[in-house]
Amino acid sequence: MKKEIMIETSARHCHLSRADLDTLFGEGYELTNKKDLSQPGQFACEEKVVVSGPKGSLKMSILGPVRKATQVELSFTDARALGVTAPIRESGDIAGSTGVTIEGPKGKIEIAEGAIIAKRHIHFTPEEAAEYGVEDKQIVSVRYEGTGRAIIFGDVVVRVSPKFAAAMHIDTDEANAGAIAGTVYGEIIK
Ligand SMILES: [Zn+2]
Repeated sequence: MKKEIMIETSARHCHLSRADLDTLFGEGYELTNKKDLSQPGQFACEEKVVVSGPKGSLKMSILGPVRKATQVELSFTDARALGVTAPIRESGDIAGSTGVTIEGPKGKIEIAEGAIIAKRHIHFTPEEAAEYGVEDKQIVSVRYEGTGRAIIFGDVVVRVSPKFAAAMHIDTDEANAGAIAGTVYGEIIK
């Protein structure tokens, strides 16, 4: 059974709905692909926005393509800098999450919900999940010991979809806790 998993760090970013992209960048605006991400069809964009809360503002990247709902993914450190508290959620689960202001070159929006701290997770296709002997929604741990700050991440949710590719995603706080820089490999513990 396979155990080794690629760990990637996601810095703060946002996903925009078509309507919000129109407001922030202009009607019919198309995002510019700067870099393809590990998940098929997902890309980091050239465009940036400024997200604000009661205490501060942070510049962040947009990840494309557009999604059904606008979502801002923060670390705890980012949330503190903005002066908001945000719940730990799986991507897409934004009901009742935190509101923030988002500003682009052509406009500004206030979202009532959508800011979250992403629950750490592993993406797998159904075939990959079978190779690793895990299922959708299963909670596992991942051990990383490369840099003198060995760490075990608990509460890692497995997410399975034919649209995914094998990769674990953590935020910048989690990466810092394990002295993780760039893409590294960890071991799944069940
Ligand atoms: Zn992810």
